[in-house]
Amino acid sequence: MKTYKFKLYQHQRNKYLHYSINASASIYNHCIALHKRYYKMFGKHLNQYRLMKHIAKLRKRKKYWKQVGSQAVQDIIQRIEKAYKLFFKQHQKGTRPPNFKKRRKYKSFTLKQAGYKFLSENKIKIGNKLFKFSLSRKIEGKIKTLTVKRNSLGELFLLVVTDYQQEYIPVVTGKSAGWDFGLKTFLTGSDGTKIKSPLFFNRLRNKLKAANRSLSRKKKGSHNWYRAKDHLNRIYEEISNQRRDWFWKLANKLTNEYDVLIFEDLNLDGMKRLWGRKVSDLSWASFLEVLETVAANKGKLVHYIDRFYPSSKTCSCCSYINQELSLKDREWTCIECNTSLDRDKNAAINIQRVGASTLKLGDVRQVQPAISA
Ligand SMILES: [Zn+2]
Repeated sequence: MKTYKFKLYQHQRNKYLHYSINASASIYNHCIALHKRYYKMFGKHLNQYRLMKHIAKLRKRKKYWKQVGSQAVQDIIQRIEKAYKLFFKQHQKGTRPPNFKKRRKYKSFTLKQAGYKFLSENKIKIGNKLFKFSLSRKIEGKIKTLTVKRNSLGELFLLVVTDYQQEYIPVVTGKSAGWDFGLKTFLTGSDGTKIKSPLFFNRLRNKLKAANRSLSRKKKGSHNWYRAKDHLNRIYEEISNQRRDWFWKLANKLTNEYDVLIFEDLNLDGMKRLWGRKVSDLSWASFLEVLETVAANKGKLVHYIDRFYPSSKTCSCCSYINQELSLKDREWTCIECNTSLDRDKNAAINIQRVGASTLKLGDVRQVQPAISA
């Protein structure tokens, strides 16, 4: 699978795509309302095929909804279904059911095989209208889906997913490592590798603060307020682009050097409570998503160990568990074996060891069973 992103050229006709995205939001919210009402009345989950039939009927009467291709409607209903399934499976873990979305926060619609056609070079027909985009890369493979996406600046993009498989010659290095996430040091490896958080994270965070302050000084709804808001959105875009870029590079570097990468299963909600908002800034979860994609492409493995294993508190030398260890302690000395330990590296070594033993990688020391932390 490969995803391509192309920017659509500005054109008056683009308003039809904006209509379609807005109409998708309306259909989405209508479906959510039906789900909620159905559950209240019957205490049961609304079947997705019944919902599809019902929406198809309504679409014949609602002119506005016809802006959305029937495949895009299917995609909306399936996405809601998936979100509900996840909620039913994991609601104890704090997963929320899908909820209403504001129109301006609604960003895209997706078509599968029908409803669009790529024409010569950089032209595409969506519905019965022609659009031009900047073809920055050649599309390889059979197209699976087309998503029309709008960013916070109102610009439109095409996301094309194909079944193209990149032919990688797997570099087998025979190396595996455990990794611990941190704030200043983004990742610490069990072999002592340290990957610093890039400085632009800080620089952009300051820029973001300034833009936020400037926005709050403007009168809401005024011309200047909209300008400040645009400026703020542009910084958000810049941050997410730079971060993505850095994530891809890092993921490529790590998967070149290691065959197996072991992490702790992240408990983001718990970490946010413990460490505050900063955790979401660093977006470890989105890095892992990128890493998994890259690793899958290269035939490398990303493995997770149970999050309840006390990886920081366990001495990697003698397995003594230091219950007194607090978040502030960056270094500590084991009272059992007197080894001085770097908090992150120690955790990474433990993560590596637990992961390697569950994966049955050779030459691994026996791990003590995890005692409640
Ligand atoms: Zn020890």
